[in-house]
Amino acid sequence: MTAVCPQCGSAKVGSADVVHELSIITCSNCGWPGLYRDLLMVDTSRDALVEVQQALDIAAEVSSAYLKCLAECAGRSIGLSMVDAGIVGAKDTQSLTRLIKAACRGAHKATLDEVEQIQKEYQDARRSNETRPGEAGRLPGDR
Ligand SMILES: [Zn+2]
Repeated sequence: MTAVCPQCGSAKVGSADVVHELSIITCSNCGWPGLYRDLLMVDTSRDALVEVQQALDIAAEVSSAYLKCLAECAGRSIGLSMVDAGIVGAKDTQSLTRLIKAACRGAHKATLDEVEQIQKEYQDARRSNETRPGEAGRLPGDR
């Protein structure tokens, strides 16, 4: 395991005199200051890096498939909504096409941002569950 900066991902946070989790650390790459326990621990063994790369490849594939589906499945409805609302005329196909693409890109980005936010909430909940064993295993959305 390697400790990396939670802000920039740099491993330039190592200190030979780290003795406990409350030691104060400064990242020499971006200047992030914090406690040793706030550093991210990353498994840098070769197998772990291959897994990370595979996960990134899968995420990129899912992301591009989603954008393609959005354009194919929702593009027509989005375009009709824009024409109905009077944003663009149905005959101005060039602008309409541009606006549909923009709407799909926006929906795509908003979705990915929200996925990231949800994942962060899960991680935070998991982290706080680790410190409060009484509520172990509970995640946002659990009833
Ligand atoms: Zn940093």
